[in-house]
Amino acid sequence: MKVIVVGGGAAGMSAASRVRKLVPQAEIKVFEESSYVSYAPCGIPYYIENLVNDINSLVTYTPEFFKNERNIDVHIKTKVLKVDLSAKQLTTVSEEGEKIEDFDYLILSTGAVPFVPDRKWLEVNHVYALRHLEDGDALKNDLKNLNNIAVIGGGYVGVEMAEALSKIGKNVTIFEMRRVMPNLDPEYSQIIKQEMQKRSIKVFEGFTVKAIENTGEKVRIIGDSEQPIFDAAVLGLGVRPNVELAKSIGLKLGETGAIWVDETMRTSNEYVYAAGDNIEVNDLVIKGRKRYAPFAPEANKEGYVAGSNVGNQNVRFPGSAGSAITKFYDLEIGVVGITEEEAKRYGIETFPVKIKHNARASYYPPQEEVYMKIVFDKKRKVPLGAQVIGKNVWGRLAYISLAIENNITVDRMFFSGVPYAPPFAPVWDSLIIASRIFYERV
Ligand SMILES: Cc1cc2nc3c(=O)[nH]c(=O)nc-3n(C[C@H](O)[C@H](O)[C@H](O)COP(=O)(O)OP(=O)(O)OC[C@H]3O[C@@H](n4cnc5c(N)ncnc54)[C@H](O)[C@@H]3O)c2cc1C
Repeated sequence: MKVIVVGGGAAGMSAASRVRKLVPQAEIKVFEESSYVSYAPCGIPYYIENLVNDINSLVTYTPEFFKNERNIDVHIKTKVLKVDLSAKQLTTVSEEGEKIEDFDYLILSTGAVPFVPDRKWLEVNHVYALRHLEDGDALKNDLKNLNNIAVIGGGYVGVEMAEALSKIGKNVTIFEMRRVMPNLDPEYSQIIKQEMQKRSIKVFEGFTVKAIENTGEKVRIIGDSEQPIFDAAVLGLGVRPNVELAKSIGLKLGETGAIWVDETMRTSNEYVYAAGDNIEVNDLVIKGRKRYAPFAPEANKEGYVAGSNVGNQNVRFPGSAGSAITKFYDLEIGVVGITEEEAKRYGIETFPVKIKHNARASYYPPQEEVYMKIVFDKKRKVPLGAQVIGKNVWGRLAYISLAIENNITVDRMFFSGVPYAPPFAPVWDSLIIASRIFYERV
């Protein structure tokens, strides 16, 4: 059996490794257009911040490791140009020119591409969109002599880059067409904005960037009325599934625009599987709906599932509720599931609970807070979504995520065994108070 994996990121290398484990005799080739496989783009902000000094630390395993330890043939700097499904052949291009490869099974793990409203923005000097480790390296080198940096977009990557750039002493300005972390309620978004301003970051909300151009060696950001000038700009405008190859071979795309797959990660063609930031999966909040969840944990698991099924194991990926976390300096920010507005659009009557509470026992220093909003489904008595910001967010978000994904009802949440000790949580933790408020009222 010959398996070809297109894309050597989290999903692709998980899939390849799984096939190797299950099918020792399989011939496995991975084609990756960048210089790295098994790498963590999530670490780029921390590389910019100098928390990570060597870009190679963001690489879990090298092509040599895969060859020597797992007998997986990895070809970096090699792009898959086209696929002929009926002949089960594909064409690659590298410095050595074009080559034709046969396959029995194809796994597409082509990831996502940064959303850029106009591709011309990427031709402007000192403008960066982050995708590959090379992008992080190029930005870091360029930043050495630059000081005034614009961050376009106030989502996860924008927030992380703003922190990184500010920590290395740059003057940072964020431009966001809505509000910082637009998937949060305005009052939570406001807390993040204030934290940014405390760190001397300028925040322009409601600012739509219309164009970006060079003016000499500088970068001009063109808005409706203002045209401020910077030394460089970093784009963090979200991502779109990289479906170019899938589209070119007629694979079905789903309702979100990403590749449609079933729970085994099989596409509309029985010999082609897909995994990672290029696919959509079941939404674990609204039954029957699909969710685009371009996050690293999902990509790894989807790759595992795709590889398992190519290895004939019948493993299924249930879906995602979109649990995601980031931070700005000491402020941790977590989101999962859907908002009140989204629930309304689906005709679901909600019971939202908002709490501001101590992150630890009130007497245990340092005194820090956690802000939590849980949106419950009033009829089914289960959580649908949550926003958690402040301190010790990760555990609380993981708990709510598990409750959402598994339809845990509010009574079970209230009586659940959330651990307590003064350094970690108050004895009546915000999680338990939130479920108690709903439990007592309905
Ligand atoms: C700056 C940044 C920070 C992030 N932080 C987080 C975080 O904190 N938490 C989180 O959960 N997620 C985070 N993410 C997202 C996370 O990195 C992705 O969800 C994850 O990498 C997806 O894995 P993947 O394998 O699907 O795609 P990728 O890792 O993007 O891999 C896809 C690979 O396919 C290759 N490829 C595409 N087309 C071809 C072709 N035709 N031929 C050959 N190769 C091809 C690409 O070069 C790429 O290497 C972050 C992403 C970025 C950019």
